[in-house]
Amino acid sequence: MIRAMGGGCQCGRVRYTAEVEPEEAYLCHCRMCRKATGGVSIAYSNAPPEKVTWHSEPDWYQSSPIAHRPFCSHCGTPLGFAFLDGKGNIDITVGSFDDPTPFRPSKNYATESMLTAWTDTRHLPGMTSAENPNVVKRWEDAGLEPPE
Ligand SMILES: [Zn+2]
Ligand SMILES: [Zn+2]
Repeated sequence: MIRAMGGGCQCGRVRYTAEVEPEEAYLCHCRMCRKATGGVSIAYSNAPPEKVTWHSEPDWYQSSPIAHRPFCSHCGTPLGFAFLDGKGNIDITVGSFDDPTPFRPSKNYATESMLTAWTDTRHLPGMTSAENPNVVKRWEDAGLEPPE
């Protein structure tokens, strides 16, 4: 089901609204997306270009002869992927949406580059941010509550 969803970069300079299908998100495992985002894979949701409204223009980095990527030059947040010719859907990074919880992965792309050690980490030991006293103390020393 198509929904209009808002998002933007970490610092808030770049904001967008995109009409996307959250159930049709996917993971890209390609090396260029890894380098562009710093992630072991990157979750995208896509939409036709006319369904993505930039309320404040992102910066664009030409990442290959065929594509460029929107990002924020102030805070560095990777915001997506688009073909240079303007045809085809624009990918928006799922993590840049204000509420990424409705998104569901529907497929893997560029599986030849998949770092399979990272595909399922649920069996590993875990801790919450609030359980990390070093970080909690830094936030408290700054006079703030630790963020989510
Ligand atoms: Zn920013
Ligand atoms: Zn990719």
